Amino acid sequence: MNAFDEAQEQLNRAIAVSPVTENLHTLLLKPEREIVVSIPIHMDDGSLRIFEGYRVQYSSLRGPYKGGVRFHSQADISEVRALAFWMTMKCAVAGIAMGGGKGGITVDPRSLSAAEIERLARGWVQAFYSLLGPDQDIPAPDVNTTPEIMCWMSEEYAKLTGDTRNATFTGKALTCGGSEGRSAATSAGGFYVFEALRPHIELPAHVKVAVQGMGNVGGGTAKIFREHGHTIIAMSDSRGGIYSAEGLDPAEVETYKKKNGNMKGFPNAQQISNEELLELPCDVLVPAALENQITKKNAEKIQAKVVLELANGPTATDADDILFKKGIAVIPDILANAGGVVVSTYEWEQNLKGEHWSEKDVLDKLCTLLERESKNVWERSVKLKTDLRRAAFSIALERLEEALRSKKV
Ligand code: GLU
Repeated sequence: MNAFDEAQEQLNRAIAVSPVTENLHTLLLKPEREIVVSIPIHMDDGSLRIFEGYRVQYSSLRGPYKGGVRFHSQADISEVRALAFWMTMKCAVAGIAMGGGKGGITVDPRSLSAAEIERLARGWVQAFYSLLGPDQDIPAPDVNTTPEIMCWMSEEYAKLTGDTRNATFTGKALTCGGSEGRSAATSAGGFYVFEALRPHIELPAHVKVAVQGMGNVGGGTAKIFREHGHTIIAMSDSRGGIYSAEGLDPAEVETYKKKNGNMKGFPNAQQISNEELLELPCDVLVPAALENQITKKNAEKIQAKVVLELANGPTATDADDILFKKGIAVIPDILANAGGVVVSTYEWEQNLKGEHWSEKDVLDKLCTLLERESKNVWERSVKLKTDLRRAAFSIALERLEEALRSKKV
């Protein structure tokens, strides 16, 4: 199954325990709009190359389309469509007045120079700017897209449209209108959700955590768990990982990786593969990389007590059942990683109002929201006697239903 089929399967399973109207179901089967473009880029060596770019505007039922832009060699329209669908659910479960969208470019950014990446980012905006805007569609960072890239995109948008409000792209660097707390928001949010649900899950006071992925989200999550006295027993990037029973210092691992290009040879740690990381005995497993990591093939071997999904779509639906049977709590992506888009919405609001909120105000506000919505999801799972994913979908669907009623589509 591709990611979009997985996403639709999740929807069907949620609807089976939490019915929706025929109209809503029909609307959620397809995106409102999806566009594939060719982006021609002049490479540093003078040659011209075409890159494939995407934007999927899945649903505007609850507000403007919202969602990141991914630069990845595996990105394609079906993946972006799935991610845009999940954004729709995520914004609804977070209770923010946004719809769902996603974008991407098929590219391995490691093969490009900084100048080529900048031209590509600007090229993406040149292709899509007429469909974007603070009331229309608000992109943000995702896999391999940085705050700096958001600044280039925002500047390109202003140049093309004359709109200088700076509210069309979120996740920007602080130097070009970004929000305090945005870069930490997804990982901090994951931690708040974990803390909110923790009383319902049997766990020791200090947990052992394995983190797959060392981007902004994986790295940030390892740091926040460690700051709270927990032990990070394993970390990995796309090329493999390291394990230490005594615990790793994520800041040190990051510095080492920056210096050496990878984690090989990190002192007092054992080399492991990404597959091995997922199967380690630990309390909390944090997939924070790509989709489809926990599947029917390895679900039986997962030994964690909790899977905190900081990536989008890391668990296949058939693996969900296996984990549930094994008594492993899966805290679903659409709740666990909603911190990023919530603070994106705060950034958008600050840009539109010309305000700048403190980091404390931003993170306090995020924490209050995620505690409330985590409680809602937990209570729904008890009421429906179901897992947290179906419960989170059930709440999202109820809110989408409300929006549909008020629009009288
Ligand atoms: N790319 C992030 C996500 O998957 C953030 C999206 C946003 O901030 O709009 O949730």
